[in-house]
Amino acid sequence: MPLFDVYPLTDITIAKGDGAYVWDDAGTKYLDLYGGHAVISIGHTHPHYVARLKDQLSRIGFYSNSIRIPLQDELAAKLCLVSGREDYQLFLCNSGAEANENAMKLASFHTGRKQIIAFTKAFHGRTSLAVAATDNRSIIAPVNQTANVVFLPFNDVTALQEYFTKNAREVAAVITEAIQGVGGIHAATDEFLRAIRSLCDEYDAVFIADSVQDGYGRTGKFFAHDHSGVHADIYSMAKGMGNGFPIGGILIAPHIKPKHGMLGTTFGGNHLACAAALAVLEVMQIEGLMRNAAEVGAYMMERLQQIPGLEKVRGRGLMIGFDVPEAHKDLRQELLLKHHIFTGEAKPSVIRLLPPLNLQRADADLLFTAIHASISAEAVLD
Ligand code: PLP
Repeated sequence: MPLFDVYPLTDITIAKGDGAYVWDDAGTKYLDLYGGHAVISIGHTHPHYVARLKDQLSRIGFYSNSIRIPLQDELAAKLCLVSGREDYQLFLCNSGAEANENAMKLASFHTGRKQIIAFTKAFHGRTSLAVAATDNRSIIAPVNQTANVVFLPFNDVTALQEYFTKNAREVAAVITEAIQGVGGIHAATDEFLRAIRSLCDEYDAVFIADSVQDGYGRTGKFFAHDHSGVHADIYSMAKGMGNGFPIGGILIAPHIKPKHGMLGTTFGGNHLACAAALAVLEVMQIEGLMRNAAEVGAYMMERLQQIPGLEKVRGRGLMIGFDVPEAHKDLRQELLLKHHIFTGEAKPSVIRLLPPLNLQRADADLLFTAIHASISAEAVLD
């Protein structure tokens, strides 16, 4: 039976990983600056993570949400502490799309309203409401099309104010990433995030911070929205949360009240997933990974900005993007096939760097050497 062919694949089979490196089945070593799509937060096969998961699996891997799971309380307590959202509540699920789906559904339950404001170039996932709030027509099936989602221009405070003024009591939620990932590493301005906060306050709407890609310490603070000094009402999380073990969740402000049966999931918050998420937070704390993300990220930005030929180097912490001009359009492929460095991309011509948060300067240096070599080789050929 063939696999349903939806992914354009790179012909490499990864056989093992360690820290910021992976090896293919022929033994070739690669530097992983893609982190399996921003997922590997504490590094591949971190010994503490492996030990905690093995230990948990040998006790019990799964039981349903119909019984007490103290690991969920332990995770909630740790998350509150590390994220600085001490009075927030936690609901656990399995992925980023599911986290956003639950966040928007909860906002609608809470406000009794239907309308969601999303922004141009946003990506929030592929489930029904999450994909409807994603600005990419090619992945929205006819059944997902809904007038309940309105797209406004990203970073346009005036358009947002005007919309709220005209539709005063219809908006359930505003959802945005602080740094658009799939959209090409574009940051919301402080002014824009603050305007969302104050308009949601004024009109009793819910501010949802999609922190699936830019959250969990990647930018040097736990949530990328924290850099602007605003608190959201709901934070969605996934990717780095389980370092590869599927887990997602939402952090919910205390004024949003739960009701039995309002949200639910079979797998969300199972024993193994909680053990993975706890291991991630423990390593993040012990190894100071948020500080490392800020420091190594700043170093990488500075070095990349010095490379002639790369344009608009941008981002924060270990979430970095730059434009690749037409003359070097094969750079990403060259980095992978010639220099054995994985990077991410955003269409049409952005290279995205989303490495593990324990990346060291010496690892990053391999990238600069490789880019220099590729760009100067192309210059000679020209
Ligand atoms: N939100 C953002 C900002 C994302 O980048 C992604 C995935 O790339 C998602 C949501 C969806 O997450 P998942 O693929 O885990 O459903």
